[in-house]
Amino acid sequence: MQQGRTTSSHRHPGGGPRSTRPEDGRRHNLALVLQSLYDEPQISRADLSRRTGLTRVTISDLVAQLIADELIAETGTTTGARPGKPATMLSVRDDSRDIIALDLSAPQTITGGVYSPRGQARHRAQRDLGTATGEAAYAAVLDLAQELIATATRPILGIGVGSPGTVDRRGTVIAAPNLAWHGLPLQQRLIEALDLPVHVENDANAAVLAEQAYAEGPANLIRIQISRGVGAGLLIAGSVVIGTSAAAGEIGHVVIDHGGAPCPCGKNGCLETWLSVPSLRHRMLTDEPTEVLAEAGRRLGMALSPVVGMLDLNDIVVGGPAELIDGHLLANAQQVVTERTHSDFRGEVRLRLSSLGDDAVLLGAVALVRRIHLGVS
Ligand SMILES: [Zn+2]
Repeated sequence: MQQGRTTSSHRHPGGGPRSTRPEDGRRHNLALVLQSLYDEPQISRADLSRRTGLTRVTISDLVAQLIADELIAETGTTTGARPGKPATMLSVRDDSRDIIALDLSAPQTITGGVYSPRGQARHRAQRDLGTATGEAAYAAVLDLAQELIATATRPILGIGVGSPGTVDRRGTVIAAPNLAWHGLPLQQRLIEALDLPVHVENDANAAVLAEQAYAEGPANLIRIQISRGVGAGLLIAGSVVIGTSAAAGEIGHVVIDHGGAPCPCGKNGCLETWLSVPSLRHRMLTDEPTEVLAEAGRRLGMALSPVVGMLDLNDIVVGGPAELIDGHLLANAQQVVTERTHSDFRGEVRLRLSSLGDDAVLLGAVALVRRIHLGVS
């Protein structure tokens, strides 16, 4: 079928012919239309055509498929400001699919939920892990997933999992020491056990996807998580950066204090020795709490400044306990980053507390499934 946009004559920068299949072009255009619908409460076919650059005929065809798939619906007409007959408005249908999300990042507890594609929680559940690790921890994950699947009342779009540790592109957990998982093909095992699409992502990477999908975060974004340790998810041009060893964002074990406190990783003075929640609370027992938080914020600012300078980021979101982060810590981190990176050619950098609270990883798992199966970020 002829599409409004054709890529068949385009070539890769390397010069070889591009092997785009017609169905890939159609999938791309469906995602383009659906993204526009997710970005607006309602929109007409004419406005979709203007926004996407696709012809009216193509838009009508794509919209017909999305309506048949129950992903969108006609929601009345508008008299609008323009002359002519009223336009039929279209909106996303949030009631036709379920997405199942699992968060394995908390100590001793795994949580999960059944969500709508827009991130509305329809059902929540959890399992206490206690001291379970290895196969016992995997069994608990499988059990929780099965319970959630049984609860779902709509076709399941997919299952998203946010796991601690390093996770490769195939959803294999390379190393998650707290769960004693080493080289566990978590995604593949869950696919075989559940017979549904499953996508496993590192917890911090999932959380940065949630900031973009559900908290209006930009396409270039760092999200720092301060909890037992310190991790980060990095989004560049809307893509999660995985890195060479699937360890991008592991900023917690960068030394920011030469000769500082010993770290379990074997080095001294890692960012985690200042900024993890246990480190902060321990220091606050003996030192002035305000000064501990201010100094931790300055250390965070020192660690982030070269990253901000290198990547030209201006939005940094920090997740974790608000009572520790939202005050002296963020203010001092902001000040150090501004002092060290400001220039005429760069916009101001903003550090802010995440608005997603404890749900960031679960919503990130939802966003991961939505992005893969609907093409919507
Ligand atoms: Zn370390």
